[in-house]
Amino acid sequence: MSQHWPQFQEEHDMFRKAVRDFAINELKPHAEEWEHERYFPDSVFREMGKLGFLGARYPVELGGSGGDIWYTTCLAEEITHCDLAGLTMAILVQTDMATPIINEIGTKEQKEEFLMPAISGEKIAALGVSEPGAGSDVAGITTSARWDGDDLIINGQKTWITNGTRADFITLAVRTDADNRYGGITLVLFPTDTPGFSVGKKLEKIGNHCSDTAELFFENCRVPKRYILGEEGHGFYYIMQNFQGERLVGAISGTAGAQRVLDRTKEYLQERNAFGRTLAGFQVLRHRIAQHETDLEASRCLAYHAADLYNRGVPCQREISMAKLVAGQSGMRVIDDCLQMHGGMGYVEEGPVARAWRDARLLQIGGGTNEIMKEIIVKAIGFGR
Ligand SMILES: Cc1cc2nc3c(=O)[nH]c(=O)nc-3n(C[C@H](O)[C@H](O)[C@H](O)COP(=O)(O)OP(=O)(O)OC[C@H]3O[C@@H](n4cnc5c(N)ncnc54)[C@H](O)[C@@H]3O)c2cc1C
Repeated sequence: MSQHWPQFQEEHDMFRKAVRDFAINELKPHAEEWEHERYFPDSVFREMGKLGFLGARYPVELGGSGGDIWYTTCLAEEITHCDLAGLTMAILVQTDMATPIINEIGTKEQKEEFLMPAISGEKIAALGVSEPGAGSDVAGITTSARWDGDDLIINGQKTWITNGTRADFITLAVRTDADNRYGGITLVLFPTDTPGFSVGKKLEKIGNHCSDTAELFFENCRVPKRYILGEEGHGFYYIMQNFQGERLVGAISGTAGAQRVLDRTKEYLQERNAFGRTLAGFQVLRHRIAQHETDLEASRCLAYHAADLYNRGVPCQREISMAKLVAGQSGMRVIDDCLQMHGGMGYVEEGPVARAWRDARLLQIGGGTNEIMKEIIVKAIGFGR
């Protein structure tokens, strides 16, 4: 795929190959076991940190590789070769959802204490925004933080938090001003060994089983002022800024995951026979393959276009929202039809599609739903109200 795109240089291709080899050789052999056990070991973070996969676009002086967004693209695409969307999500939370904002606005001390060990894989990171009463409506969060001397005292609850049961720290959104809806939210770096913090339950999901998704509770948790990220009261805007990278990698990895299922389906259609010919011999199925290839190419082009703008620092909320919307919808449609083209083999766990079909549903919800993407797009084009 990369040969068509001039932004991928030889170094990107080497990085791409290294991630792919790791995913195929070190992760994929455990896919069935980890998915069944609804778990994967913390050591995966450390191994990927040692190989330089967790800091591809972070500065060299922080232990990263100093690369551009195209390294992140390679990571997000190639890690899908592990066939574990839950693991892919957990790693991308570490690299592109919970930590970019630390790199952008964190102090030197915050970067040393949180970002550098996240890049090396010594610390696991989570992003804590959603609450039982506030998911799409980020400005509706109520987890409170009140000042007590130079400390913040945090009380409240978060839910659906990826890496929530195992995180060493959480990039956490709290409300520091109850009377200011948008300007009353602050981001803090929250170490999970803080007294008063507890993990409620690990949530049972319909897919992405090997990743942990948790409810988190905060009861009089004391956090020093030095853990505030950026400026007090600016948290909502930092979260919106951070969402851009999160949604972009979601679009890229979702499209890559769907492409892998489509590639396997092409092989299956060439191997399986019915009515005296291979399934690939039926024009109706070949045309569906052509349609899916076209849809995924369109999805990839849009995601790459958004990545290019993002890489150059051009405002691209509209393009990123479109890319996530298209990736979620096309990916689901393609994988659903791949399941159909596998017949009974599509519906059983031993086949290559059933798990991907369950996993793919998430992209239309997590990191901002389809409806929220559409809200952003109509605002960006100045349509309505
Ligand atoms: C597996 C998983 C992992 C997750 N990981 C994390 C994580 O690591 N960190 C984190 O903070 N969050 C995480 N989330 C939460 C996720 O971001 C939210 O679920 C998502 O943003 C939707 O919020 P909600 O569930 O509260 O839905 P709601 O906001 O209650 O929405 C319900 C429905 O109403 C629609 N809706 C809401 N507002 C509007 C509107 N204005 N116009 C039209 N329709 C609307 C929505 O699109 C949706 O269809 C995760 C969720 C899942 C399922």
